Parts: sequence; structure tokens; C-alpha cells
Amino acid sequence: MTEDCIFCKIIKGDIPAKIAYRDDFTVAFYDINPQAPHHLIIIPHKHIETLNDLHEDDSELIGHMTQTAIKLAKQLNIAEEGYRLVINCNADAGQSVFHIHAHLLGGRRLQWPPG
Ligand code: AMP
Ligand code: ZN
Repeated sequence: MTEDCIFCKIIKGDIPAKIAYRDDFTVAFYDINPQAPHHLIIIPHKHIETLNDLHEDDSELIGHMTQTAIKLAKQLNIAEEGYRLVINCNADAGQSVFHIHAHLLGGRRLQWPPG
């Protein structure tokens, strides 16, 4: 837990969020400003600021986040139609919350390349 991190606060329940899934390693909740009919944020409990701060022994954690995303995509019935899993890193990618997170986006035809 890092004092002024909004995602750490969501994990703790100090900030309300619509939680879709929680286990010992990850939490998934609905994005407050959805960019697609289905837009969830998947985070690890562990506060890691950016992709650049991942250690080798965090590999299992990232694998677990991916498995969580796949599970949710299946539950949301978007697994077959398709979806996107995105991790933004730092300014050029538009990262605005510095607690690593994956966006799960689906439910519409997504553009490529992204803006
Ligand atoms: P990024 O730009 O990749 O850092 O994504 C941060 C995402 O977190 C954005 O899509 C925001 O809409 C979302 N977000 C920020 N605050 C909250 C919150 N309190 N509850 C849910 N989603 C949030
Ligand atoms: Zn945090």
C-alpha cells in the first residue's frame, strides 16, 4: 500500500469502485471513464509503479493478471468476438495512474493503430 495511490485505496476499500473480481493477487474493477462497452482495470495487490519497475520474480504476477483478464473476457462473453488487453507505460503511452494496471476493453470493434 502506498499512501496516495488511488488504486491501492481501491484495493483497501477506501475509495469505492465496482469490483468485478478479486483474489489473493489481483483485483479487477470497472473503469470510471469507460472507453468501450466493457472496460475493466486489472491490478495486482502489489504496488508496482510502471512496467519498467517489474522484477523478474514478478513474472508470475503478470501471468496471473493475464489469466484474470482471460477469465473475465470469458465471463463477459467477449472472448470469441475479441478484446484488447493494454498496459500503458509512462507519459507517451498516456499512463495516468502509477500503479501498474491492465485495461481489458471489448464489446465493440476497436481501432488499430490506437490513437
Ligand atoms: P492509464 O491512463 O493507463 O493510467 O489508466 C488509468 C485508468 O484508470 C483510466 O482509464 C481512468 O479512467 C481509470 N481510473 C482512474 N481513477 C479511477 C477510479 N477511481 N475508479 C475506476 N477507474 C479509475
Ligand atoms: Zn498503488
